[in-house]
Order: sequence, then C-alpha cells, then structure tokens
Amino acid sequence: MTSAYLDYNASAPLRSEARDAMGAALSVSANASSVHGPGRAARAVVETARDKIAAFVGANSSEVIFTSGATESNNWIMTGGAWGRIILSPIEHESIYVPAHNSSARVDEIDVSQDGVADVGQIADLTFLSNVNLANGDLGQTAITLQIANNETGALQPVAETAAFAREHGFFMHTDAVQGAGRVPLNFHALGVHAMSLSAHKIGGPKGVGALVLKDHVALPAFIQGGGQERRRRAGTENVAAIAGFGAAAEAAGRDLKTIERIAGLRQELEVGLKGIDPGIKILSADAPRLANTTCFATPGTQAETMLINLDLAGIAVSSGAACSSGKVGVSRALEAMRVPEDLAQSAIRISIGHATTENEIMHFLKTWKVLHRSDKVAA
Ligand code: PLP
Repeated sequence: MTSAYLDYNASAPLRSEARDAMGAALSVSANASSVHGPGRAARAVVETARDKIAAFVGANSSEVIFTSGATESNNWIMTGGAWGRIILSPIEHESIYVPAHNSSARVDEIDVSQDGVADVGQIADLTFLSNVNLANGDLGQTAITLQIANNETGALQPVAETAAFAREHGFFMHTDAVQGAGRVPLNFHALGVHAMSLSAHKIGGPKGVGALVLKDHVALPAFIQGGGQERRRRAGTENVAAIAGFGAAAEAAGRDLKTIERIAGLRQELEVGLKGIDPGIKILSADAPRLANTTCFATPGTQAETMLINLDLAGIAVSSGAACSSGKVGVSRALEAMRVPEDLAQSAIRISIGHATTENEIMHFLKTWKVLHRSDKVAA
C-alpha cells in the first residue's frame, strides 16, 4: 500500500546518519565518565556529538548540556530559576506551559495575533519585579520564554527582538527552538538568548535525548541532581548512543538547511492542491512568516478526527489541529489563543514534512484527501 508520513513536527523519521552513528556507539560500552581507555572512547563520542550540535546552533560546545529531551530542558528552565515572574505566550508547548503555571512564579501570558504570532510589544507594558544585570551570572527574577516557531501552525515568533528587550532590561530569556531547528537557521549567540531547548527526534535523531543550550556564565541550578556529569549541570550517566545519534542528526540537518527550498516547494504544491480541491479551506497563519514545512488547515464542514482515522486507513500519517500536540480531543490551546472559531478548529489538520518527504507522498495525500473530503462533506 502507498503510504505517506506527514507528521514531522510530532517526530521526524530517523536519519540514516543517526542510525549509523548510534549503531557504532552501541559497541562503545564504557561509562563516559570513566578514566580508562574504553571510558575515554565513550567520552570522545559524546564530545564529538556536542561539537556537532554546537556548530549546528552557533553555540560554544561548553554551552551544550545533554538532557532527556526538550521536555526536560523546558521543565528545567521553568522551575530551576526560582522565578518570581514568568512571561510567556499561550502557544508555548505543554512542557513550558504546565511547569510555568505549576511554579510559584506569577505568570503573565501575552496575546497572540489571529495569525498566531506573539504580541511581544505587550511585554513592555507589564510591570516588572526586578531589573538585574545578568552579566554577573545573577539570574534575576523574571524569565521570558518564547518559542522559535509554533508546532501546530509553524508561525515564526519574534525571538531575537524579544531577547534584545530582555537584555536591555536584565531579564532572563529562553527560547524553545524545537520546531525551528533544521527548518530555519539558528544561531544561539546572534539570537541573544540565555538558553535554548532542543530535541533530537524532531531533526531526525533518536527520541529521548535533547539539550539545553545555556550561556556559560549563567548559574542555573541543576534540575537532575546527583553525579558530576555535564560539568555538574545535569546528573546521570550519558546515553552515549542516543547522543551520538543526536550529533549525527544535527550535522545532517544543518547540511539539509541548504535544501529547504525543496521542502518549501512541496509545501507549496500541497497548499495549491488543497485549495484546488476546496477553495473554502483556511490555511492557519498563512499571512505570518512560517516554517517552510508546516501547513495547518481547516475545512469548514469536516471533522478532523474522522479525517485522521480515514487518512490513517489509507496509510497517511498526519495530526489533527484539534489535538496537534497531545493526542487528546479538544481544541488546541494555540488555535484557541488565535481565536479560531471552535467548529473550524475541530476541522484543522496539520501536515508537517521534512528531509525524507517525496512528491509522491504529497500526491498520495492530495488524491486521498479529494475523495475523503467529498464524502465527509456529503455526510455532514
Ligand atoms: N517543544 C515543542 C515546541 C515541541 O513541539 C515538543 C514536542 O512535541 C517539545 C517541546 C517536547 O520535546 P521532547 O519530545 O524532546 O520532549
């Protein structure tokens, strides 16, 4: 059966480079903290991967701290700083949103436009608790967090602009770069943030590994405490094979950024095809700067959950806008924040593509969609 995997924002297929690197690293069996020869071999694998990830995001290797994934990195930032105040957008991932709201900090949510872009100008209107110069390593009391791009709509967020504001006022600035990595050029230093979360499996690496990129001078207390790994910043024996896969994926994703036009072309074909089938569809965040790989579209009169099941039966994997991030049925927080009417949000489907997507997959989707869409509309 022809199939199509169009759900890269949930998880990208493992790249061959990552699989090979992991295969090789699995035979390096020692603990990367051991001082003997096999231990040093494991350490070399970890440090090579660290260098590749640092190069991928324009950071120093010493700034890359391996974690179990972006969920951990985000939890660490939200809870590790003992913030008095956290400023975020309502379209942040659950791994930001939930720990922020469960922390003792006061949380300020800034609005997003109907196109899904955070109105960061509002931050200047909020009153602040403190104004601390972070250059001396003091965390201050206020943290701002803003994702590079939204996982559901692909809308790019004004992170550099917000970071400049944060620096000016002495606030801590974090970005969740999970969906931007490998899709837009990322430069940690040029962005001017203090911290950035990354996830391996969104760029074709393995699941269960990620990183927090943290400026060297920032004294953020360890979230996972214990041994002295990661220069005392994240305890726990390193998952050498997963880290090797992450490094290889980062290197390949950095190389593939040069061919992002291919992805943009496929997305264009998809959107033109969708509009040809039904000119009434609404592409969410269409007028905002968007990731080249993501289309979230709503079709009045259809139910995303039904479509998802029927697409799955046809071998096509996508996500529903109503449950883009969590698998639960209900209108997503992001679409709600964008004030997408509920019935439209219930019909939203997210298609996200990437390095291994082919034109055949797009064509298979469009052919199937044409049939399903007609029958669902008739049924409704
Ligand atoms: N942040 C964003 C924007 C995401 O899309 C995701 C995954 O869906 C995460 C964080 C969590 O990443 P991980 O799966 O590595 O925990």
